[in-house]
Order: sequence, then C-alpha cells, then structure tokens
Amino acid sequence: MTGKSERDMEKDQEIPSPASGRTKREKAGDQDARISGKALGRMVESFMKFPGIGRKSAERLAFSVLSMPKEEASGIAQAIIDLKNSSRYCAVCNNITEDDVCVICRDPRRDETALCVVEEPSNILVLEKSGTFRGKYHALLGALSPLDGVGPEDLKINGLLDRIKAGVVKEVILATNPTVKGETTALYLAKVIKPLGVSVTRIAYGLPVGGDIEYADENTVQRALQGRREM
Ligand SMILES: [Zn+2]
Repeated sequence: MTGKSERDMEKDQEIPSPASGRTKREKAGDQDARISGKALGRMVESFMKFPGIGRKSAERLAFSVLSMPKEEASGIAQAIIDLKNSSRYCAVCNNITEDDVCVICRDPRRDETALCVVEEPSNILVLEKSGTFRGKYHALLGALSPLDGVGPEDLKINGLLDRIKAGVVKEVILATNPTVKGETTALYLAKVIKPLGVSVTRIAYGLPVGGDIEYADENTVQRALQGRREM
C-alpha cells in the first residue's frame, strides 16, 4: 500500500486561512475564475470526481483533453457513455457484466464448492489478478454500516444465502475489507451462514486495519487468501 493519495497531499497543502474565513467552496470558485472558460472549469470539476484525483491532476487532465484531436476526445466521452449503458450486475454474483450472467459464473472450470464474498465488484478484479482463487464470487454491493443506516436488507445477502442453500457450496470465504464496516459485515455473515452447515473462513490481510482490498498488491492478496482462517 502506498502512502497518501494525491488528493490527501493536496489537502495537506491547503492551509486554511483563519483571517479570511473563506469556505472551501468559495476558494474553489476563485480557482475556477482563474481558469478561463466555463467548459474547462466543468471538465476540471468532473475529473475531480474520480478517486485519487485532486485539483492539480484534474487541471492537467482537462488541458490534455483540450490538446487532443476532437475525435480522440469524443471517443473518451463515448466510452464513458457506452460503459454506463452496457454494464449491469450479474444476476448471480453481482459482478459487472454486459450479459445477464458474468464470465466467471458461466465458466464450468471454476470450483463451485468455494464461494468468495466481497464488498464490491471491483474487488473481484483484484482477487482475479492474484490468480490464486479458482472458485466463484459473490459481491454484496456494500458493507454493513449501522451508523449510516445500512442494514443487511440493503446488501445482496439474500441472494448469497440462496446460493449457499442450493447445497453445492462447501466453503464461504469472507473477503470483505479489514475496516470496521468490513469486519462488522464478516461477523454478521458468519453468524447467518454457519447454521447452514458450510465452512466459513475469513481471509488474512497483510494490510493495516482500516486498509482496503482495492489497494492491495497481488502478492498481498495471494497471502491473504492462503492464510484464511476458520471463523
Ligand atoms: Zn457472476
């Protein structure tokens, strides 16, 4: 895991001025004023919606769009639209797919007795890259967070239980993040899955508590899977 994101570092550099008492919003407005053109300002704001992209990077990206041939820039805009229009959640595991059922669920070579539970579809990609796991997945599309009002009914837990109840699964590997939300989710799942008579394991993380599976490198993910323990 690398250190701070660029956004964090930019935040650190942003020294609040108590004398002026200006809000961050006003400050952002001033920055926009420096950028000539509303469209350019909008592009910068748009790029800042991406994770890890601070204002400086967003400005650099916006200017690189400006210097691109028009077709190339249109291609990027179209790719975003196509992605949003053609992608959906797999009807079985909630992975991202362009078909009803994703390629992993359709693959007959995958081990159907092992089911790895993750928070988000992007986590499946990280685990797949490590190349260690040959079973199937289930994305919950979130994590339990009582303080934010996110309960079991807000996650794809019923679908998970139905898959286990079908009787083929022997081991459920809980690969939720090593965060408070992820741990809360893992404990809850262990409680409801164990009575179904399958083995429930929790992956070991070589990550500091509060880390995210998203930022783990392939070796860390591999070790985490191999070091999983019965809950
Ligand atoms: Zn699937």
